[in-house]
Amino acid sequence: MPLHLSSISVLLFAVASCSTAIAEDYQMSTVPVDDPRWGRILALVNEQTANRAAAAAESGDEKTIEIVQFIEGTSYLAMMRTPQQLAGSVARAMGTTFVPAGEWSTVRLDLPPGSSRLADGEKMLKSVEDTGQLFEYTTALGANATVKVFRLAGTSADLQQLTKDQFLERLKAGKTWTVTVPQVTSRCSFCRGAKFVSGAPCPQCKGVGGEFVERIVNITW
Ligand SMILES: [Zn+2]
Repeated sequence: MPLHLSSISVLLFAVASCSTAIAEDYQMSTVPVDDPRWGRILALVNEQTANRAAAAAESGDEKTIEIVQFIEGTSYLAMMRTPQQLAGSVARAMGTTFVPAGEWSTVRLDLPPGSSRLADGEKMLKSVEDTGQLFEYTTALGANATVKVFRLAGTSADLQQLTKDQFLERLKAGKTWTVTVPQVTSRCSFCRGAKFVSGAPCPQCKGVGGEFVERIVNITW
């Protein structure tokens, strides 16, 4: 069920009607194009997408990468494997100091647009993510090969801030985003929603007037 259109516009500022839904659809096609909600929702999408990409880069799937051959643009054929690394706490408790490196696999690695050219044989340790795409090429021996396409985590398009036009275009193309919307759902039991006590922000709700919950919203066209 779509959210009431007024819900996002009043978030943080009013005690909204209580909702127990886990994730709800917010249909942007129902919001007039010049409505200020577009700006607020796009800001949430941009901020949360960038945060997730940055978190993925930090905790990401770090790989040892060796460039094999330039393909085109900023794409390379590369060898990739999980580096040998210290094991987690459980493995350490069992007396394991190192976990073995994974097998080498051949992949296409897409670097961010504008990256400087890398030489064959260049090595690096980077966080990567699987794009879900496949790449077909012809090997030196003339055989066809298909490999997975990876990109550097957190340096992809996810870190670019979408403009409103790009946001609109991608929504219409069927892309959706899931965002968490902080929302006040119940009245503060201390100030009873008044936000201030004796002229100072309420010590319990910090002047919000209620309790925050995070509402999970699917932004769709
Ligand atoms: Zn309060």
